[in-house]
Order: sequence, then structure tokens, then C-alpha cells
Amino acid sequence: MFNRRMQKLGEERSVIRELFEYGNRRKAEIGAENVFDFSLGNPNIPAPAAVNGEISRLLQNTPADLLHGYSSAQGLYEARTAIAAYIRKKFGAPAEPDLIYVTCGAAASLTVTLNALCEEGDEFIVLAPFFPEYRIFVENAGGKLVAVPTNSAFHPDLAALEQAITPHTKAVIVNSPNNPTGAVYTEEEMRALAALLEKKSKEYGAPVLLISDEPYRELCYGAEPPYLPNLYQNTVVCYSWSKALSLAGERIGYIFIPPTCANAQALFYAVCGAGRSLGFVCAPVLFQRVVAACAGQTSDIAEYKKNRDLLYGALTEYGYECTPPDGAFYLFVKSPEPSAASFCERAKRHELLLVPSESFGVEGYVRISYCVARSVIERSLPAFRALIKEYRK
Ligand code: PLP
Repeated sequence: MFNRRMQKLGEERSVIRELFEYGNRRKAEIGAENVFDFSLGNPNIPAPAAVNGEISRLLQNTPADLLHGYSSAQGLYEARTAIAAYIRKKFGAPAEPDLIYVTCGAAASLTVTLNALCEEGDEFIVLAPFFPEYRIFVENAGGKLVAVPTNSAFHPDLAALEQAITPHTKAVIVNSPNNPTGAVYTEEEMRALAALLEKKSKEYGAPVLLISDEPYRELCYGAEPPYLPNLYQNTVVCYSWSKALSLAGERIGYIFIPPTCANAQALFYAVCGAGRSLGFVCAPVLFQRVVAACAGQTSDIAEYKKNRDLLYGALTEYGYECTPPDGAFYLFVKSPEPSAASFCERAKRHELLLVPSESFGVEGYVRISYCVARSVIERSLPAFRALIKEYRK
């Protein structure tokens, strides 16, 4: 009667959403201040003043048909020109507006890219732990998701990757700064990955692409991640402003294909075709105009760093094990018992809402999303302390 696969996807519900809704019910029962919800990656720092200023300016000064009307399917030429200029200036990469496709956020950037690339039998490699939606996006595009473990610091394991790449590998997806671990891959690691992909592409006579999923690019607390198109020419960048400008609900991002990419123009047509077939055309026009004016600005990211320092410092002091995260707004903490799901249930009894790691493709960890008010972290600390004490009895 219906598409069973879609029905199942809808019924399954994400563990993260489920927790978030549980948190809302619990807040209604015992008061919002008594529930410590670390489930969602929803930015809590306000968008920069320039964003709201630009929205007001546009509302007052733009004719109605230009403000709320359609843009071309791939986005306003002015927006794509501004994005290309920003990429050229910031990263020195040869960006052109004609190879930029404006999207409804990184989810759309990825879905459109995967549909543009995927042919029968194609495999897409992700590094575990990984953003759970990758599996859904890859499989819906008709591809096979191949998860390759990372090393003990959650950085790429080149030897494992080399083993996993086959003539069926269409692309490797990397996400740095990373959800859920907060790892930021170094230039040296990415150069080594680029060299591996060059070698494999030569061996198979067809490029193995790199998809750089970058919603957290600006959220890094040490060295910035390298710009992958500068290291590997067959890179497709899937960007969004959801986190950098705290605009997650406005759905705005882009796909950038460097002109150096093999068959760049044909790939761009495939992106346009995929966008068309999925209905992801003409991203929200008001926000196309906003980001054109605000590209390069960010919310006050120093606030996330303060949250990270407070939470990481306290949790490690109490005895939790965690690799220090260099970016994004997540801590990936080792569960003190083998089953992360059962640890999360126990955490719930302390009103702590943590995400178990199984849906990220690894076992035995929890993700703590620290894009929350500082006061939530401060009030949650006694609960974290009491929780770990239960494992010491
Ligand atoms: N990729 C990763 C790694 C993410 O964490 C997210 C959102 O949290 C997305 C993609 C989707 O981002 P957007 O909200 O811009 O669609």
C-alpha cells in the first residue's frame, strides 16, 4: 500500500529525537530546570547581530517578488558569486559561482551529492563513529554504506581505510570537526588520505571522490581543519550555516565542486539533476540573501569552548574517560559499563539525557551535546558526579 521502506524509516524514529521528546515530557513533569538535556546538536548561541540586521534590512528594502519569490534552481547568482568569492579569499581555492549549488542545509547537500554520484553497486565509506543519517542518505541514493573504524583518538586509520577501498568505492565521506567525537583531522592526516585516494584512483582508473561534510568547519578550538579541495582535487564540499551562524532551522547551505574535480561540469549537472529529482531546488531565498552578506561571520564560538572546558574538565575529574574534543560541540565519553544503552537509562534516573553510541556505528560510548546554556552544565555536574559514583560501589 505504501513504500514499506519509508514507512519503516518513519516508524523507527531517531534515538536522539526520542530522547529530546522524553526530555520535554520530563520537563513538564518536574520543571525544565531539573532536566539536563544533552541530546540535540541545536546551536544555543544567538546568530551574530549582522544576521538579524541583514534580515531587517532585506525586509525593508527588497521588492516582494525578489524577497520571497523563486530563485533559479541552483540558487541566486548573487549568492553563488558571494560564496565563491568567500571560498577564494578564505581558502585560496579556485571557486566559481557556476559550480556552486545552494541547498537546504548540509543534509540536502549530502543527499543531493550522493544521488548525483551513485550508480548501481557503488559503495560509500564513512569513518565510524559517524553521523547516523549517513546510512539513510547513502542507502536511499541506492548505495552501500561501508563503515571503517577510526583509531583510538577517533582519527582516520589509513591502513583500515586502504583495506576497505575497492573498485566499487565511489567516495569517502569525512566530517571534521566531527559529530559525534569532536575530532578535528590534521593537515598531515588529510594529505595522507589524499595520497591514498590518488593511489587507488590510479589503480582503478576512476576517481575515488572525497565528500567533505562541513557543518562544523568554523567550530574548532585549536588549529583550523585543512581545506580539502586544496589537498585533493576530486573533493566535493557539502557545507551548511546551520551551526556557524546558528541558523539550523532556516535550512541553508551549499555544495561546492572545485573546477579541478574530474568532469566538474558534468558532475555539476548531475547535482542539478539530483536536486531537481529530489525537489531540493531554490533554497530559502531570504536566507540565500542573508548568507551572501554574512559569509565568513560566525556566532560567538568562544562560548562553546567555555562549555567544552567546563564539562570536559569536570567529567574527567570525576573519573569519566573522554578524548579531549578539538571542535564541534560534542563530547564522546566512554560508558562505564559495556552497554551504552543501559548506562543512558541509568543516567536518565539522574535526569541526564545522553545519546548512546550504537546509532553512530560504535558501541560503548555516549554523546554529550554541549551547545546548551552554561547554567544547564553547571546544574548538571552534581548529577554526573553521582552517576559515576554508582559504578565505584
Ligand atoms: N552532517 C553532520 C555531521 C551533522 O552533524 C549534521 C547535523 O547535525 C548534518 C550533516 C546536517 O546539517 P544541516 O542541519 O545543515 O542539514
